[in-house]
Amino acid sequence: MSNADIIGLTTQFLTPNYARFPLAFSKGKGARLWDFEGREYLDFGGGIAVTSLGHAHPRITAALAQQAQTLTHTSNLYHTESAGRLAQTLVGLLGNGKCFFCNSGAEANEALYKLARKWGHDSGRYEIISTHNSFHGRTLAGIAATGQEKVKKGFEPAVEGFRQVPFNDLAALEKAISEKTAAILIEAIQGEIGIIPASPEYLLGLRKLCTERNLLLMIDAIQCGVFRTGKFLSYERILENTKSHGFLPDAVSMAKGIANGFPIGAAWIRQPFADVLSAGSHGTTFGGTPLACSAALATLEIIREEKLDANAHLQGDYLKKQILGLRSPHVREVRGFGLMLGVELQPDIPALKVEGKSPAALFASRLHELGLLTIPSGNPVMRLLPPLNVTRAECDEAVEKLSRGLSQLSQLQH
Ligand SMILES: *Cc1c(COP(=O)(O)O)cnc(C)c1O
Repeated sequence: MSNADIIGLTTQFLTPNYARFPLAFSKGKGARLWDFEGREYLDFGGGIAVTSLGHAHPRITAALAQQAQTLTHTSNLYHTESAGRLAQTLVGLLGNGKCFFCNSGAEANEALYKLARKWGHDSGRYEIISTHNSFHGRTLAGIAATGQEKVKKGFEPAVEGFRQVPFNDLAALEKAISEKTAAILIEAIQGEIGIIPASPEYLLGLRKLCTERNLLLMIDAIQCGVFRTGKFLSYERILENTKSHGFLPDAVSMAKGIANGFPIGAAWIRQPFADVLSAGSHGTTFGGTPLACSAALATLEIIREEKLDANAHLQGDYLKKQILGLRSPHVREVRGFGLMLGVELQPDIPALKVEGKSPAALFASRLHELGLLTIPSGNPVMRLLPPLNVTRAECDEAVEKLSRGLSQLSQLQH
């Protein structure tokens, strides 16, 4: 089949809810993808921060094959070895608590909403305060928690009990707390809107506020977690130069990068809240299957053995420095930590002005022609989310392609 055949097939038979680029891939290896006609792409999008170890990693393939040959699924009526071991690993990375496994990010957040509601129930509290420009997934509760009008539009009435306030504004949050408030939900780095990190003062202030007002502090680490920033969770990276040892939220949702592309979501819940979701109160058929948990265990093991947290830190710093070194007049700012970087373009670049199209998507298309995949954001920000084992040579290659794409913007003024 050709690229056009695939695109024709999906356009005819899949619902049109995604604005897909006209690209289709037949195989991948490490940080590279190939389309159906053999054209090579350097993948600095990582399937939106999912393929932490790159494509077709031999040890992940082996872990999946080995588990598939042994046992794929039994259900949550029974105990599962790999789920127990994965939860133990996550508790070791996060702190004293317990885990719930599901199949996606939106579902991991759903577990947090239900935790907050069940916990607040007896005192009549159910409200969750989140922030403007956040993203928490596409379920009905997810879009109610998300601070972007465009994801809510057309799906009213909204699920009750969610409210948004400006991000990085502790006073606004404090003011919004009512006698109905049970929890605060934030991303430590807002991803979808274009890589906006929380400030250390905001994180520390929220922790103090939640403790004082008896609220759960819940962190959506779906995009910025799992070592992407050089630390297991991005708040550790944000707080690393402060004296705030022991900062710990009450619940954390994870998904995307945790199993290198095999679907799994996870909620970690701190003690003393870890038993709030009691027997019969929540569940999912597929959550924590042997197959998903084996893929996640292998992913975390490889990251640890190969010290890919340190690599993410190192290559991320290098990548940021090299992009800034281009001194492109079209780049307004380079933000982020480790391998979660946002390259913000200047507003109103004439070459990126097309009726009905976002500048970020237009620039991403230009980069596709140069063989580089990036992830456009809501704002004119290109997200770079390469695998955690990316090499310096691959970073150089990406910067060279980015540099060519940026130069083209000057030649193409119209
Ligand atoms: C991707 C994402 C989600 C939703 O995850 P899905 O697996 O798509 O349901 C939620 N929160 C954040 C921060 C995300 O980046």
